[in-house]
Amino acid sequence: MFEYAPAPESRSIVDIAPSYGLFIDGEMVDPIDGHPFKTVNPATEEVLSEVVAAGPADVDRAVAAARRAYEEVWSRLPGRERGKYLFRIARLVQERSRELAVLETIDNGKPIRESRDVDLPLVAAHFFYHAGWADKLAYAGFGPDPRPLGVAGQVIPWNFPLLMLAWKVAPALATGNTVVLKPAETTPLTALAFADICRQAELPPGVVNIVTGAGDTGRALVEHPGVDKVAFTGSTEVGRQIARSLAGSRKKLTLELGGKAANVVFDDAPLDQAVEGIVNGIFFNQGHVCCAGSRLLVQESIAEELLERLKRRLRTLRLGDPLDKNTDIGAINSQAQLDKIRTLSEIGEQEGAERWSPPCELPERGYWFPPTVFTGVSQAHRIAREEIFGPVLSVLTFRTPAEAVEKANNTPYGLSAGVWTEKGSRILWMAQRLRAGVVWANTFNRFDPTSPFGGYKESGFGREGGRHGLEAYLDV
Ligand code: NAD
Ligand code: MG
Repeated sequence: MFEYAPAPESRSIVDIAPSYGLFIDGEMVDPIDGHPFKTVNPATEEVLSEVVAAGPADVDRAVAAARRAYEEVWSRLPGRERGKYLFRIARLVQERSRELAVLETIDNGKPIRESRDVDLPLVAAHFFYHAGWADKLAYAGFGPDPRPLGVAGQVIPWNFPLLMLAWKVAPALATGNTVVLKPAETTPLTALAFADICRQAELPPGVVNIVTGAGDTGRALVEHPGVDKVAFTGSTEVGRQIARSLAGSRKKLTLELGGKAANVVFDDAPLDQAVEGIVNGIFFNQGHVCCAGSRLLVQESIAEELLERLKRRLRTLRLGDPLDKNTDIGAINSQAQLDKIRTLSEIGEQEGAERWSPPCELPERGYWFPPTVFTGVSQAHRIAREEIFGPVLSVLTFRTPAEAVEKANNTPYGLSAGVWTEKGSRILWMAQRLRAGVVWANTFNRFDPTSPFGGYKESGFGREGGRHGLEAYLDV
């Protein structure tokens, strides 16, 4: 056995200020009624910087700036001019992608391999894709002159901080809306770096405003009367609160919430490929993925062999320093998330499921959880029903395709699903019956800005990406 030598990515490319203000009307400003809080590196618990939890007066100021920019500048610009700004932002993201990837990894805990090879290329792709739409909205199928809505209030989670920002900001700007965005409290730094990209791109002041903070700031933003459209990505619980508070208002709303996706493996599937898909489905980004394949449904006749191969593969995963280029599993994003994963895993054991992890040493400082597999899971178990949002896989078995469909759909969620089989006809048969916004066939966790993404049932409503995603930002 050869040992890997350490291969850490250098941090020197990133310049983190000791403190940040709020990005309002094209400038970094001090808060009016906000207060400071700290963001840490979850892999080391080192304090990275102090940011602002914006208060209601700060949010009000940001919404006023977005309104002014909407009325006076952005809604009056022809689409081809808006497109130029988006192309410029996309190119700046590419130019600064190494810096942004390192910053994302430091603030979030995800492996550099993922922030560098997945998050950042997709961020740029989203801006390029929507830049292309800006002057072609008349051909998108929403009438000859679809109009923007106004000011968009956007709230995003911590699992893909910059990518979720791109999913929100790019379509809003392409369609002529202006934005006030609130990043998650544990991962504000790449959104603040994006503020600098807006400045570099010479985006007119007020078109994009970034207000940092936690739930209170988010609530002040979505409930602000000056906001015309709310886009939220996060937990189903908070999504429900927002839907309730917006009911009866004229605001347009899209919700991208949680998931408990089934990854269904049939006996004719290419097993090694399926193992890679299962690993990618649940251990990518430490399982902090709303569409993660957290329930493995495997056909009974191959269950034993598949699990053996899966466990062999999991023994090769490398957990540790997220900045090391050979790391597969990084840190859990926060102490609170770690507590939640631990609690649900303990409940899994208490309910009688069998717990297994490969031998792996956890670093002393920081928030860590080993890749974990539960077998002998039944549909009644909480680990089969509740979103764990961590590197924890629950394995269930089935005998017939009909049983697979029944089990896969037996969840309040409906964001994604995976099907592994050699038969094209079976893929189509399954895809028609699975109640999920995305169904992957012989692959998992594949994303593309041209493809609409979103949920059924408690996974939310509305679509992001593709032509469908434009509709959420247009008055149609
Ligand atoms: P969360 O709902 O606690 O927080 C998400 C965001 O909402 C954060 O920015 C938070 O500050 C803010 N927020 C909290 N309370 C709020 C309130 N009352 N009003 C307005 N904003 C408020 O979720 P989380 O734990 O940070 O993120 C994990 C969840 O997000 C998981 O359930 C996951 O499935 C979901 N998620 C979904 C998608 C998707 O596209 N469907 C993508 C990523 C994450
Ligand atoms: Mg952080």
